[in-house]
Amino acid sequence: MSLLLNGNLVRDQIKTECRPRITRIIAKTGRAPGLAVVLVGDNSASAVYVRNKTKTAEELGIHHEAIVRDASLTTEGLLAIVADLNSRGDIDGILVQLPLPAHIDSQKALLAVAPEKDVDGFHPCNVGLLSTGRPGLRPCTPSGVIEILKRYEIPIAGRNAVVVGRSDIVGKPMAMLLLQENATITVCHSRTRHLAGVCRGAEILVAAIGRTAMITEEYIRPGAVVIDVGMNTVRTREEAERVFDAARLAEFDKRGSLLVGDVQPGAMARLASAYTPVPGGVGPLTIAMLMRNTIEAAERRVGL
Ligand code: NDP
Repeated sequence: MSLLLNGNLVRDQIKTECRPRITRIIAKTGRAPGLAVVLVGDNSASAVYVRNKTKTAEELGIHHEAIVRDASLTTEGLLAIVADLNSRGDIDGILVQLPLPAHIDSQKALLAVAPEKDVDGFHPCNVGLLSTGRPGLRPCTPSGVIEILKRYEIPIAGRNAVVVGRSDIVGKPMAMLLLQENATITVCHSRTRHLAGVCRGAEILVAAIGRTAMITEEYIRPGAVVIDVGMNTVRTREEAERVFDAARLAEFDKRGSLLVGDVQPGAMARLASAYTPVPGGVGPLTIAMLMRNTIEAAERRVGL
């Protein structure tokens, strides 16, 4: 029997834990922690993410500002916005929503965010703090995965963990966080040979690839813990038939599209000892961890 790791439950726990910390910050400073989200251009998915982030901040009583500019903003214009937010006492966390329009230098923009306000954990300073095991702001999605594993009391230390994907946002920090928890880690990518065989060695398998249900039965060791970070949309019936069982296929027919991860859902449920579903697994954690990072940044800044 496979254990479903419910990300919505873990998210709710984290949000509940955030509330007294916010109260303490208000008691000490007379103000709520502050989060600024900068959105440039008209990427509709980004607009939804920003809305969800500010909605959660609102719900928790975190002060939030969405700074929205059209795609004509220059790199210099964005740097000026970030510099202003860096200098503001009422803003503890700054997030520049990615992807930025192609003409903007994303690296420059991310480097401009003050490391102590970098609630995405993408600044090289925070990356360095993570890789040397020092306290700092950690990237939200991989820290969410660690929260799920810990709260479900899934042992990490000493286990073989395979991370498929090496992005700066998910794969690499995921590997570093698992290493910090004393897992033995292998990081795979598009040039890895014999990927299925390597994955079959995993006691903890994390898929962060961005390829619809690429991880099938032959990649999963029976009894492994499988964490599916992927978020892909299935839009064609042909693909739906490859990916879903009869029940979800019927749901697909009703809706016309469905969200799926990087792991084939049926294979995961059949073979894993525990797994995160898509949706409802890792996804809900990302915003909760962003809120927690904002609170942590505020606490450090006000000496709590
Ligand atoms: P990227 O595209 O930045 O990275 C994908 C990684 O997967 C790369 O390292 C790439 O290798 C590797 N890869 C691609 N194809 C293969 C393959 N055939 N075999 C092995 N490795 C492969 O994606 P992200 O890390 O940003 O995101 C990964 C997934 O996670 C996406 O589905 C995304 O939507 C989802 N995501 C979910 C979040 C959430 O909140 N749940 C948050 C962020 C992302 P190489 O480096 O060699 O190119």
